[in-house]
This record gives sequence, C-alpha cells and structure tokens, in this order.
Amino acid sequence: APRAGVLALQGDVREHLRVLEQLGADAVPVRTPTALASVDALVIPGGESSVIDKLSRTFGLREPVRARIAAGMPVYGTCAGLILLADRITDGAPGQQTFGGIDVTVQRNAFGAQVESFETDLSVATLGDPPVHAAFIRAPRVTEAGPGVEVLASLEDGSVVAVRQGRLVGTAFHPEMTGEHRFHALLLSMLRDR
Ligand code: GLN
Repeated sequence: APRAGVLALQGDVREHLRVLEQLGADAVPVRTPTALASVDALVIPGGESSVIDKLSRTFGLREPVRARIAAGMPVYGTCAGLILLADRITDGAPGQQTFGGIDVTVQRNAFGAQVESFETDLSVATLGDPPVHAAFIRAPRVTEAGPGVEVLASLEDGSVVAVRQGRLVGTAFHPEMTGEHRFHALLLSMLRDR
C-alpha cells in the first residue's frame, strides 16, 4: 500500500488519516523529519496556518518539507494547508511564512466574519459527478494564479477555491469533513502515475 502522511503539528489530522486509511493507504502522522522521510505523499490539514508554520520550524520540518516538495512529492493541502502551499499570502500573521510550491497568492480568512463558515456544492471538472459538497471554515481564497496553475474549482462569485500545479493540490475547503474522498484519491493516484 502507498504510505501517505498527514502533517500532524496542529489541525484536523485524524479526519485525514481516516480518509487515507479508507482509501487503502498506510496512513502515518508526520511530526518528525524521520516520519516525513518514510512517506510517499503528504496531506497538510486545516487548522491555523500561522501555528503550523511556527511549529514546522520548531520541529525541524520546514526545510525537509520544502525539499520533498521540490523533489516532486505529491502534497494535498486543505484550507490552512492550501495557505502553506502558496508561494505568496496576504493577511498573514506577523512573520508568517509558507512552504510554497504553488504559484498563487492566497488571501487568508477571505470570507470575513460575516460568513465565517458555509457549505456549498461545487462542480470540479477533473472529478466529474457528483459535485463536491464543500465545507468552508474561515477559509482562504486564491486571488492570483500563475500560468502553470490549473484552477480546479471556483465559487459563483468567481473566488478560486481549488488549484493544482504538478503534484501539488490545494483546496480552500475541507472535503474530509463531508465524506468527500476524491481529492485524497487524486493524491494517491499521483503515486501510481510516477
Ligand atoms: N483561517 C485559518 C488560517 O488562516 C484556516 C482555517 C482552516 O484551516 N479551516 O490558517
């Protein structure tokens, strides 16, 4: 079975481990460089991106994660995970950094206090039918995307909320909370294609 890690510094780690297990992967929480070296693919969960950023440096994981991304490891980031995969962010916490890898600008907390959380059905061309039932929780959005970035989904107001660049996929929403497994399956399928 493919060995798929979930970056386990902060956030909804267990839900992602469960989805990966249900898809037949050997699912591993990643808190150390040794654990990172043992996985073939990585999920970066939702949570608080500034905290995950800080802890990644405390745990000595920042440079190893960046190196694996540069070496072509498939990575899927949800919500805070999308923020951490973005090359550029706006409305970051003071000093906040990202791993980068996807040539996008991501605005944190883009939907503001008036709609902190909402759910909607999104059509995602690469996934086909049925549409994705997506939960947005203090979600970011992609405000600029470079030419190498494929937009996978947008809201009706035009906000880009799912992107892919090579083996990196990011969504502003949380499929692991609504029984949606197709993004994780896409991540694992990149291992079979290598
Ligand atoms: N607002 C959070 C952040 O900036 C992301 C929220 C989430 O992951 N659900 O990191």
